[in-house]
Order: sequence, then structure tokens, then C-alpha cells
Amino acid sequence: MKAHPEVSIVIPAYNEADRIETTIYRIFNEIKSFEFEVVVSEDGSTDETPLILKRLKKRFGDRLVTIHNRRRLGKGGGFLRGVEHSRGRYVILLDADYPTDADTIIKIVKYLRMGYDLVIGSRAHELSILDPPPPPLRKVIGRIFNLIVRILFRIRIRDTQCGVKGFRKEVFSIIGPIQFLSFIFDVEMIVKAQIHGLRIKEIPIYWSGKTGSKVRVLRDTVTMLGGLINLWIKLPRYRKISREGMKHSGE
Ligand code: UDP
Ligand code: MG
Repeated sequence: MKAHPEVSIVIPAYNEADRIETTIYRIFNEIKSFEFEVVVSEDGSTDETPLILKRLKKRFGDRLVTIHNRRRLGKGGGFLRGVEHSRGRYVILLDADYPTDADTIIKIVKYLRMGYDLVIGSRAHELSILDPPPPPLRKVIGRIFNLIVRILFRIRIRDTQCGVKGFRKEVFSIIGPIQFLSFIFDVEMIVKAQIHGLRIKEIPIYWSGKTGSKVRVLRDTVTMLGGLINLWIKLPRYRKISREGMKHSGE
């Protein structure tokens, strides 16, 4: 059997027929400096995404793993299912529109190799290059959202929502099941990682957010805020259970 790749690039994909093919080709053409596989977790699409993936699978064989969720799970749910099927010791979360470049992904892997558990691509980092800059409304809402996240959860991360992140694989088993499987799964993961004292690094990235987001800014932000409050309510219990778990395992 062939050795496992060092890195799994996991892409959640819901109705991405217009862009998934370009993304897959770009990844395989541009990233040469480490061994990786791509895992696409197709999330109950109603367009041609599954068909396109079937064709790509024939072309790329073992280096491309495709899984299909019969029902739409949401970005987080799809991503986590992809992680279950991944073999790398490091996992990169990447949005299907490939909103970054190879150098950024290589840099994330570098930090993971240095021993960070979670490497967060941050559009809010002063050294990040945003090309083009986000629309003003989205930027303002993003900032307010982040402020609320930082106040509620006492974390310092300035951009929890970016679709470019790296994880040491063990992180997923350390923090346990994720409850919020839509768009705030990242917040839940980061907050729980912090509770466990994992090493988190927020880094500058190249970002070229494309149009065609499935986020409806105002409506989804309200839903996400509800999710944050719900997470905040549930967290003390998680903290308590984790503390007891850590005591028992002598961590
Ligand atoms: N996505 C998914 N299931 C969903 C919604 C989104 O798998 O129910 C995927 C989507 O295909 C994309 C990523 O999650 O790869 C981010 O979605 P989107 O671009 O809509 O969000 P944004 O980048 O604007 O936060
Ligand atoms: Mg997007």
C-alpha cells in the first residue's frame, strides 16, 4: 500500500459546478513542495458538481478522494466528513473557489510542521493581501461579528471565518464532536482548541474572495449570531467535562 500523504486538502463543495474543476487543476498544478491528497466533500449539490467530480476522479485517481453527502450538511458538516475520509497528518480547509494561492497553503504547512495545532488564515492581518478588497457591507459586518466573538469567547483571533485554515489531524479527536455544523463551526473549533491549550497561530494570507458566496450576508449573520449565543451557553459544560477528562488522562 502506498504511504499516506503528509497533507490532506479538504474542500467542502455545495453547488460548485462553475469553479470546482479550475480549483482542482490549480491545486495539482501549483503545489509541488509536499505530498498531498485532495478530498472533496460534495455537500448534496443540486447542480452538476457530482458529475464533474466523477470525471476529475478518473483523471487524478488516488490523489483525489471524492465523497458525497446525500443531504446538505453545511460548510462545517461537509468539511468534517471530508476530514473523516482524509489520510494526511495535516488537514487544510480550503473553500471551493480557491480564494488564496499556493504560497499561502505552503506557509500554513510550514507552521504546522513547526508544531502549531491550528493555523488560521486571516483576512484581518495587516500584512494580508486582499484582492479585491471585500465589499464595505461585508467588511463592517465581519468586524462586528469578530468583535462579538472575541468578547463572548475571550479569544484573540481576528478572523475566525476564513476558508483557508490548517489543522494537525489530532485536533479533531482532542476537541471531540462539533455541534454547529453550518458557518460557525470554525468558531467552535477555535474556542475548544483554546480550552485544551492547543497552539493556535493566525497568519497573513493572500486572499482573492470570488463572487458567488452562498452566504446571504444579513440573514446568515443573524443566524450565526444565534449560533454564537447558543455555543456560549453550552461552553461551560464542555469546559467542565474537558477539565475532568484532562485530569483523568493526566494531561
Ligand atoms: N459549502 C458547503 N455546504 C453548504 C454551504 C457551503 O459545503 O451548505 C461550501 C461551499 O461550496 C464553499 C465553502 O463551503 O466551498 C464556503 O462557502 P461560501 O463560499 O458560500 O461561503 P463564504 O466563502 O462566502 O464564507
Ligand atoms: Mg466563498
